Amino acid sequence: MSDKPVSTPSNFIRHIIDADLENGKHDGKVVTRFPPEPNGYLHIGHAKSICLNFGIARDYQGQCNLRFDDTNPHKENMEFVEAIQQDVRWLGFEWGEKVYYASNYFEQLYGFAMELIDKGLAYVCDLNAEQTREYRGTLTEPGKNSPYRERSIEENRDLFQRMRAGEFPDGAKVLRAKIDMASPNINLRDPTLYRIRHGVIHHQTGSEWCLYPMYDFTHPISDALEGVTHSLCTLEFEDHRPLYYWVLENITIPSQPQQIEFSRLNLQYTVMSKRKLTRLVEEGIVEGWDDPRMPTIAGLRRRGYTPASIREFCDRIGVTKSDNSVEMAILESCIREDLDANAPRAMAVLHPLKVVLTNYPEDQQELLSAANHPKDESMGTRELPFCRELYIDRNDFMEVAPNKKFKRLVSGGEVRLRNAYVIRCDEVIKDNQGEIIELRCSVDMATLGANPEGRKVKGVVHWVSARHGVRAELRLYDRLFTVPHPDSDKSVEDFTQLLNPDALRTLTNSVIEPSLAQVAEGSRYQFEREGYFSYDAKASRADLPVFNMVVGLKDSWAKIEQKER
Ligand code: ATP
Ligand code: MG
Repeated sequence: MSDKPVSTPSNFIRHIIDADLENGKHDGKVVTRFPPEPNGYLHIGHAKSICLNFGIARDYQGQCNLRFDDTNPHKENMEFVEAIQQDVRWLGFEWGEKVYYASNYFEQLYGFAMELIDKGLAYVCDLNAEQTREYRGTLTEPGKNSPYRERSIEENRDLFQRMRAGEFPDGAKVLRAKIDMASPNINLRDPTLYRIRHGVIHHQTGSEWCLYPMYDFTHPISDALEGVTHSLCTLEFEDHRPLYYWVLENITIPSQPQQIEFSRLNLQYTVMSKRKLTRLVEEGIVEGWDDPRMPTIAGLRRRGYTPASIREFCDRIGVTKSDNSVEMAILESCIREDLDANAPRAMAVLHPLKVVLTNYPEDQQELLSAANHPKDESMGTRELPFCRELYIDRNDFMEVAPNKKFKRLVSGGEVRLRNAYVIRCDEVIKDNQGEIIELRCSVDMATLGANPEGRKVKGVVHWVSARHGVRAELRLYDRLFTVPHPDSDKSVEDFTQLLNPDALRTLTNSVIEPSLAQVAEGSRYQFEREGYFSYDAKASRADLPVFNMVVGLKDSWAKIEQKER
């Protein structure tokens, strides 16, 4: 909602860039990239990387490329390519005229692989996957040289060309870098550079290739070809960094990007791995990638998060090298603060209880004016229809107050209706089972806006006219998992056993004020005393609007009660 001025906090990566600029490194340029693999939707962890990379480009008048790291065609597709672009844009970032694809470089990458072969730095290996693993050794034992390691340059050239031409089946041969099978860094033990994959249609290159380059080979070269200066990636790539530089040092390429690692975002009570998120979607555990319970950007958007709140969250958690797991409360306080300042107020009764005002004429009705925001007059006012029949929330009535703190309506007691009058409960109507189904109350018409002299009415409750209100479905959310670290929880066989069955609660009989009957997609409100809600256009039907609860209120109601007293 709000576009707050740019004031990104500094971090160790910005310090490195400042020093580089001072020393004239990279000719004073700053170019970053965000390199998602289009094998799923983006999640809040990606948002951290997006805000970091695009934020740096923005603040240093540089450039950030959106580059699809699309070297694994069997898991990738255009739906993901499009969703990722939509999500990056929605977060508020631009990438210039062109979207980049690693697959655009397949021809060049092939050429660089040939260059390594010609230099005796790469060879075609026929070991199968299992043998390759055996030869690789372990953290404590060196590996063994492949029997194919000493193939001649001519033979390697010939075999690699024939791999491209499709002469060999999947897995029959790979191209490997010739580095050091005894390196303490396993990533340098002759890593695979290319593998064969027949029969997949790549979303960009179709069936042109059956030979696909590995990430560790593709990434440094793509960075260099694009003139990336600072290649920012997450910590798990720290051990790959020597390979990143090995590739660049051994091919003829002018640009020399530098790789800098930072820690991933882990958010409590959810999972961030695309493999796991994919399972939730494919097994129908959630409604889709944009299910509001999901930590995806699309899910958060549908839930009602704003781009500004997610950017603010990324600023607050900062960028460091230490592994951390962030509390959901931090994300929630970012959206709560945004919506507190920017969301208009409205009234919705979640669990309706009918109230009949016995001294209010049957055929009368009036319009009461209500401020749309308690602190921001520029948001204006709206009119609330008031009549003899209203709804209040079941939880706002008890026959007898359970304790002194209960300031809501009780039998024989008084309460103020928000933006309206004080009412007194004269009679409680119950059904045969003893369930309260209606309250008969009297309204004091002298109490609009203020309490007459000497009158102490402490409680304020929200309400909706029963004749004018609109039935709505409200979806209330809780954490997706029951434990803070579902990713590393060893108490169950499968992480889906840790799902919170109450992550979604649906109220289908709620009533919202009539001004909300027709609102725009994504409109957000504070339903007073209940929480922040966002209109879900996708889920709504013509006769049943659906709102998602974005986040609960903290204590904001306490203040309103104080003011109205
Ligand atoms: P996953 O392991 O879930 O598939 P990934 O890292 O493979 O995630 P990519 O699409 O390759 O997903 O990620 C694109 C970029 O986003 C990478 O630079 C990656 O480091 C970064 N990224 C992914 N997850 C996180 C996270 N949780 N926190 C910060 N950055 C992340
Ligand atoms: Mg990846």
